[in-house]
Amino acid sequence: MMEQYQKAGISPEVIAFGAGIEEKLCSRFQAIDEMAEYNQMKVILAMQKNKVSAECMQTSTGYGYNDIGRDTLEEVYADIFCAQAALVRPQITCGTHALALALMSNLRPGDELLSASGRPYDTLEEVIGIRPSRGSLAEYGITYRQADLTADGRFDFEAIRDAIRPNTRMVTIQRSRGYLTRPSFGVDEIEEVISFIRSIRSDVCIMVDNCYGEFVEEREPVEAGADLVVGSLIKNPGGGLAPAGGYLVGTEECIENAAVRLTSPGLGKEVGASLGVNPSFYQGLFLSPVVVSGALKGAIFAANCYESLGFNVFPNGSEPRHDIIQAVTLGSKEGVIAFCEGIQAAAPVDSHVHPIPWDMPGYDSQVIMAAGAFVQGSSIELSADGPIREPYNVYFQGGLTWYHAKLGILSSLQKMLEAGLISLS
Ligand SMILES: *Cc1c(COP(=O)(O)O)cnc(C)c1O
Repeated sequence: MMEQYQKAGISPEVIAFGAGIEEKLCSRFQAIDEMAEYNQMKVILAMQKNKVSAECMQTSTGYGYNDIGRDTLEEVYADIFCAQAALVRPQITCGTHALALALMSNLRPGDELLSASGRPYDTLEEVIGIRPSRGSLAEYGITYRQADLTADGRFDFEAIRDAIRPNTRMVTIQRSRGYLTRPSFGVDEIEEVISFIRSIRSDVCIMVDNCYGEFVEEREPVEAGADLVVGSLIKNPGGGLAPAGGYLVGTEECIENAAVRLTSPGLGKEVGASLGVNPSFYQGLFLSPVVVSGALKGAIFAANCYESLGFNVFPNGSEPRHDIIQAVTLGSKEGVIAFCEGIQAAAPVDSHVHPIPWDMPGYDSQVIMAAGAFVQGSSIELSADGPIREPYNVYFQGGLTWYHAKLGILSSLQKMLEAGLISLS
């Protein structure tokens, strides 16, 4: 084994350091395996209940009428997420598109959107119109309000109460930390805030951005009372196999609104060719609970490695997890670069390229990204990125297998060691 890692450029002292950390994680890893087992059962039972069959792996072209594979998959998603209905399509291009679709189809001019979890994910700023943008909700006369989180990153119930207005039509809650160092929200906390919102206004539509959260816990946000739950298929539920796509699950009403917006009024869910993706959507969903467990082990391993070297890590090494993202404050530009080089060097694809910081559109500082993925931009695959600015955080996620995630982290430690940024003695 030692030899295999040495062939990958990992030195004996890094291997030994990693082994020492891994040893202490036995019981956590066992709990993660149990969660994977629970969610694996959930997926299999939903597939059996809906009689997923060989015909479901066929494809459709053109209008895509009567695509049994597509329609059955939507029933399977609805069951897994305990929702009335689902929309799961390759025509939904990414997570941002899925969220934009959910908002734009369920809001009307004059309505107000409230974010109960503070500042939303970066790309939603242009969807909402927080940053002026062509086609934003603001352009359609939909206003926006935000209840900031408390200083320690929790829901601010009083601020939420104050922000609910007569024309508040939708409330959005983001489960994952995104690219912030605030905590992620567990389904229990989401349930508590949803009950609170309902006690003030029972008729608002509550949406949860579920990106990176699927299969991390036993329950999903519909079970906590959400009307609409949204995510990306190149993150958790695609299991690394979905080549593109997004999903929405929720009430009949919310999903129908989204379907007629995605295709056309009058057509809704009836059209939309599956273009050959059915097998990878099914198989990716089937594998997802185990893939997510590998990514979680990687995140916990990274947190414990870097924490024991004195770095701040979010979440810390022992906190419960509600998503697969791990942030590490490396404190220097060199640290962020070395970390990302290590992740890249461990990739099965493009391991020979060197990531460098660049002026990415939409960001106010340079950003460096490491990814060697089978599916372009897929962040359920091992990936890391960080803006080159104080406090020099790197955000790390994914890994289709625990062993690959482990190699990536050891490789990041190796690069940090070689750059003289850490000492293992
Ligand atoms: C990734 C992500 C999105 C956006 O998804 P894209 O596929 O990158 O467009 C939105 N919200 C959260 C919390 C995310 O993690």
